[in-house]
Amino acid sequence: MGADTHKIYINGQLVDRSEARVSVFDHGFLYGDGVFEGIRVYNGRVFKLDAHLARLFRSAKAILLTVPLSLEALRAAVVETVRANGLTEAYIRMVVSRGAGDLGLDPLRCSQPTVIIIVQEISIYPPEVYERGLDLASVVVRRPAADALNPAMKTLNYLNNILAKIDGNQRGVPEVLMLNREGWVTEGTADNFFLVKDGVLVTPPTYVGILNGITRQVVIELARNLGYGVSESNVTLFDVYNADEAFLTGTAAEMVPAISCDGRTIGTGRPGPITRRLTKRFRTYARGEGVVALDSITVRT
Ligand code: PMP
Repeated sequence: MGADTHKIYINGQLVDRSEARVSVFDHGFLYGDGVFEGIRVYNGRVFKLDAHLARLFRSAKAILLTVPLSLEALRAAVVETVRANGLTEAYIRMVVSRGAGDLGLDPLRCSQPTVIIIVQEISIYPPEVYERGLDLASVVVRRPAADALNPAMKTLNYLNNILAKIDGNQRGVPEVLMLNREGWVTEGTADNFFLVKDGVLVTPPTYVGILNGITRQVVIELARNLGYGVSESNVTLFDVYNADEAFLTGTAAEMVPAISCDGRTIGTGRPGPITRRLTKRFRTYARGEGVVALDSITVRT
């Protein structure tokens, strides 16, 4: 499907990609004032849609933004947009911004939030990355404290992550680890982090300042169902360097093995057995083969 045939949802209308426009006075654009979600369509089903919608509403509530649609209406809009694009494997970007206001940053001047849903083919890491694993680096930029800009909120204000990404680009790595002010490992720029030590999965707890990823939650559940211990506990770079295995989780990237950090080889320097087993399990689950994710919504017509 060519780019020009894409249908984009804007404020209740499905329009051609070339017609999809928002105001230059939209505070999503001017100030990063808004919230968003990234969601996957696997095998004709929207994966964990309700979990994503619930998180969008929580992020919006936290910034005192009223989503101008009910949860049911937004769910229907997502399904309608996916169907209109005729894709059975896709990435969905849902954005609710504060809407058009004036040049002052006061959200009270924005009367109508903007709702956008984009559905596109997915562009993730090349297959080699999943085979070989990727190199990580810890970066100087810190994840903000919960009382500054709480990373639990998935807002349009991603400059903290972008600065970390720039740091990563300078270091020549495709993803980074961000620490919080206390030096605990938090997450990547768009992914959560897990390590494996002595057969147990360890992932930073939400209170260190992370986005509580839907993929993270799924992987924790799948790992426990497979009989692995999972500990949500503080992680230092020392723990990362000395892990047996490591991987990242995120909607776009899914599960990606990490094989080094700051030049220190993690484990054998190859994707580890637990990472590989869990990745296989995740893919089967996401695609609805075997046990179907109960809250996946079928869009295939
Ligand atoms: N952390 C950050 C900062 C992210 O942007 C994302 C991706 N949205 C994640 C973690 C992973 O979350 P999810 O599994 O819900 O995509």
